[in-house]
Amino acid sequence: MKYDIIVIGSGPGGYVTAIRAAQLGFKTAIVEKENLGGICLNWGCIPTKALLKSAQVFKYINHAEEYGLNKVDATFEFPNVVKRSRGVAEKMSKGIEFLMRKNKIDVIMGAAKVKKDRKIDVTDKDGKVTEYSADNIILATGARSRELPNLPQDGVKVIGYRQALALPEQPKSMIVVGSGAIGVEFAYFYATMGTKVTVVEFMPNIVPVEDEEVSKHLEKSLKKAGIEVMTNASVESVDTSGAGVKANVKTANGNITLEADVLLSAVGIAANIENIGLEEVGIQTDKGRVLVNEWYQTSVPGYYAIGDIIPTQALAHVASAEGITCVEKIKGLHVEKINYGNIPGCTYCLPEIASVGLTEKQAKEKGYELKVGKFPFSASGKATANGDTDGFVKVIFDAKYGEWLGCHMIGTGVTEMIAEAVVARNLETTGHEVLKSIHPHPTLSEAVMEAVAAAYGEVIHI
Ligand SMILES: Cc1cc2nc3c(=O)[nH]c(=O)nc-3n(C[C@H](O)[C@H](O)[C@H](O)COP(=O)(O)OP(=O)(O)OC[C@H]3O[C@@H](n4cnc5c(N)ncnc54)[C@H](O)[C@@H]3O)c2cc1C
Repeated sequence: MKYDIIVIGSGPGGYVTAIRAAQLGFKTAIVEKENLGGICLNWGCIPTKALLKSAQVFKYINHAEEYGLNKVDATFEFPNVVKRSRGVAEKMSKGIEFLMRKNKIDVIMGAAKVKKDRKIDVTDKDGKVTEYSADNIILATGARSRELPNLPQDGVKVIGYRQALALPEQPKSMIVVGSGAIGVEFAYFYATMGTKVTVVEFMPNIVPVEDEEVSKHLEKSLKKAGIEVMTNASVESVDTSGAGVKANVKTANGNITLEADVLLSAVGIAANIENIGLEEVGIQTDKGRVLVNEWYQTSVPGYYAIGDIIPTQALAHVASAEGITCVEKIKGLHVEKINYGNIPGCTYCLPEIASVGLTEKQAKEKGYELKVGKFPFSASGKATANGDTDGFVKVIFDAKYGEWLGCHMIGTGVTEMIAEAVVARNLETTGHEVLKSIHPHPTLSEAVMEAVAAAYGEVIHI
């Protein structure tokens, strides 16, 4: 069985690659060993957002009086909240099945291993091995929860994100190790539903990749929501011999012991590069990731890699963009390289975080002279009407040429607003042009225009 393109892995990298390949006229197959849609649809982006929506609705109902409604004490059965999230994931996965059929892409269920001469072996669930070949093989096998040697996951008391998405019952207490997007989203979800949550972060700030002002603001908001946050702290060891888990945590003031029902390890991801034949073919890896050039070619011609298995930002939209770029280049189209400096990143706790470009610290380190503007949602009519005024928009411009260097937002709804900054930066828009682009009233997006105005000393509402 010979194809033009075989894609291995059906996450947002793989399935989008396959669809674009089919659109370009390639005879395409996709191989998946688990569920169509990969981590993103089944165990990542989508089911977490479904859980977070339940938490948001729960919070709103419990604050009904603030909206002039009668007091309601919302209650819930935890398994039903998980069931809804799993249902959403299943629905999305079915959607991918439909898209594969629609685009006439052959779906091969099984575990693939690459071989020399652009061939692969696929082992199905019954152990039957079938060989396929293609002119181009694209690896999109994604990643899994990273396990630290001192934090081995037993899946019950020390868990990863998969277990955290489908716990049979709600833990009374939880330690979350790592405060990147995944850690913070779970911390927020469980705390909002009533679990006592402690976040332990090794770095001085939570959500360490974000602008420092955003990190500090989130820390305050999470503490206000009842979450204990420990920074400059690391879990040295865990003891699971008792009823729950005891974590030995190193802090600036010495070691302490934290106790909880479960510990969620959210310390990053490890790429799925094992047992997929890389060594046999001679595909080079470095620090656990597959090495590729700017067009996603590996060290062996005819073999490509995209998404979480390569050393770029581990985000669904990055994986998809890499896949599209990869197949368009194979087709011989005139393709632009991905600008990794203009990738938006979002965290969906409340308040949400959304950012793109340089942080203030990074911009200063690069030697730019800056114009920085900030607009708080407390001054926004729409945010006040919404009853959600926590947060702000911060914009950073190069004082000399007006280049929009970075945009950092925290607040309810900001993940829907960041694309404006991405498009504007892509079009090399200056602050003046954003300022003169009339934003609708009343919207949260006015805060972007006002933050830009603040940078240029023209802000109206503060
Ligand atoms: C809890 C959580 C929340 C997240 N939230 C977000 C978010 O809000 N926004 C965002 O942008 N990103 C988010 N991410 C990251 C996002 O899920 C990943 O960046 C994205 O899924 C990577 O896509 P991918 O296609 O590279 O790999 P994956 O989605 O990991 O898919 C890889 C697929 O390959 C299959 N596979 C592996 N090996 C083989 C083999 N040998 N043969 C056949 N199939 C194989 C796997 O079963 C899997 O289905 C989140 C991740 C997690 C864990």
